[in-house]
Amino acid sequence: MTSSDGPRVTRIVLATRNAHKVVELREILADLVEEIGLEIVGVSEFPDVEDVVEDGVTFAENATLKAVAVTKATGLPAIADDSGLAVDVLGGAPGIFSARWAGAHGGDRANLDLLLGQLDDVRGEHRAAGFVCAAALAMPDGRVFLREGQVRGTLTRAPRGANGFGYDPILQVDGDTRTLAEYDSEQKSAISHRGKALRALAADLREVLG
Ligand code: IMP
Repeated sequence: MTSSDGPRVTRIVLATRNAHKVVELREILADLVEEIGLEIVGVSEFPDVEDVVEDGVTFAENATLKAVAVTKATGLPAIADDSGLAVDVLGGAPGIFSARWAGAHGGDRANLDLLLGQLDDVRGEHRAAGFVCAAALAMPDGRVFLREGQVRGTLTRAPRGANGFGYDPILQVDGDTRTLAEYDSEQKSAISHRGKALRALAADLREVLG
């Protein structure tokens, strides 16, 4: 886990192939990289690691499945997140189905268009929703740490903003006039579901490795 010569460096694997998430996760963990000598590597650097079947029915289950699979395959601590959009009037859907709401091949835009169509008749006061993120840290010794975060807002009627990904352009953040796609990545991390879950997990990581 650590190199024996030179400064102590711990390698940790981010169990995601989503380039947007890798960027966000790296930014969130940047302080720890300095502080405890962390080298963050993406799972794509391990070509033999197969994608895990995400057959959990909660964000927490799926994050744990991914982190445990990657730590078993690599022998390194692994961090995984599972996240999505939960719309109140839909009872928390799309939820764990957020990435494939418009079908297996539906991209971000198709997902978002479908959702806006489904909610066409829903008035503003009933358009509350939030992004939810579960983040899991799996250690080679079998320990698993799990944290959750969320950011709440209201669904707009049309996409706004060019930053971010997924449903960002249609979630207007509570207490703000902007959608998450109108935040830059640093501002988004400061308030986002993933930022909150990952910062909490970073505290666990600091304790375990520090
Ligand atoms: P995951 O990769 O299984 O966690 O799926 C996450 C899906 O939820 C993504 O494909 C997006 O549709 C949505 N999602 C998760 N986090 C965000 C976010 O920060 N912004 C916008 N959409 C998100």
